[in-house]
Amino acid sequence: MSSFLHGCRYFILPLLITFIALILIQVTEASWQIWYAIIAQLPYWLLSIAAAMALQFNRSRLACLALLLVAFYMSKQSSAQVFTMVNNHTDELFIGGAIVISWFAFIKDRGLVSSHGILRALGIMIGLGLGFIWLEVIERFQAEIIEKSPVNVTSQTLTLAPIICCLILVFFRAMWRANLVNTAILTTLGIWVFYYFQPDAFPLAVLLSSLAVIYLFTILIDSYFLAYRDELTGLASRRALYNLVLSLGRKYSVAMLDIDHFKKFNDTYGHDVGDQVLKLVAAKMAQVSGGGKVFRYGGEEFTIVFPRKNAQTILDDLEDVRESIEDYSIVLREDKRTKKSNSQAKARRSKSKNAGKKTVSVTISIGVAERHSGESFDQALKRADQALYRAKKRGRNQICI
Ligand code: GH3
Ligand code: MG
Ligand code: MG
Repeated sequence: MSSFLHGCRYFILPLLITFIALILIQVTEASWQIWYAIIAQLPYWLLSIAAAMALQFNRSRLACLALLLVAFYMSKQSSAQVFTMVNNHTDELFIGGAIVISWFAFIKDRGLVSSHGILRALGIMIGLGLGFIWLEVIERFQAEIIEKSPVNVTSQTLTLAPIICCLILVFFRAMWRANLVNTAILTTLGIWVFYYFQPDAFPLAVLLSSLAVIYLFTILIDSYFLAYRDELTGLASRRALYNLVLSLGRKYSVAMLDIDHFKKFNDTYGHDVGDQVLKLVAAKMAQVSGGGKVFRYGGEEFTIVFPRKNAQTILDDLEDVRESIEDYSIVLREDKRTKKSNSQAKARRSKSKNAGKKTVSVTISIGVAERHSGESFDQALKRADQALYRAKKRGRNQICI
């Protein structure tokens, strides 16, 4: 379920927003056309800003794409000799460009001003070159390929075969590796292909400006997540907790949650299994009811803040979380990293549907405090921590106020 939501947030939603935005742009054409002289300059500014921001935030793939799109736009706007040559090879450039864009979906963000930058420039040239090579090959062997092919192919299908492959590959890449950068690359490829087939549907300046805005949003939202999300569990981080504190009213309750005997757990099963379990336990906590907001406070400690609630009213919600974790038979993933530790460990075997697979379980202790008047957040949190200490002392796997 959580991976489905993840996919929706990073893959389906951005694509949907882009699609709606493009429709809105077309519907409102009459109102923005009078500004066209200014809009024609926008891609230079917006793409350059996007490239600079992408470099600043270590998103070198987006930086490269933005710069390549600036060069492409320049070639379309300028009448210089060098660009006329480029424009005489529209089909080659289209196929080569699609290959380069797709290639970006499969490489990592690396520093541009380094040996990686040189390799990247080389990759871009090879990608563009492939467009020329492909069309040359098709032109020479087209008749032969069509004749020998077991399925019915036309010369147009053959010409466009690399584009179809690129679209499929990048689509699946963006779907399985759902993140905003991959979705931005898929959108770039989609707009690239769309522009080739429908060059008059939208002015190029509008398409490229939209792409630049998508890049800027991608960088912005990505950086926000980097600062406010915990990488391992995907929960909000302690920094996000203190951000929330600024907007909390006078009445709220706070709970501190801590996994029981987790040090021993790590010693028995290994740190990698520990990480897996932390992630799964965090996912259970994220399902807390009662309007609780969950944060990873640090290590194996979590905080849940319940705005406008007193301690008594949230006990049932927290009890549900405690029980759901206690009852949770965590199936261990047998990957290369955990195999060794799993074989050493004597994990409990459940008789349920997971019989045969190694399962483990953990419990948590919870301390709760509601804010007293005149108290700061840190003071309330400290009392929740003291309550947690009591829960541990009383035997763990329980809630204390
Ligand atoms: P208690 O029931 O008293 O809470 O015992 P404990 O062993 O859980 O308590 P303690 O706070 O002493 O130990 C916390 C352990 O959590 C230490 C460390 O091994 C583990 N831990 C903290 N952060 C991580 C993490 O990110 N990944 C993994 N695998 N383990 C972590
Ligand atoms: Mg602990
Ligand atoms: Mg602890």
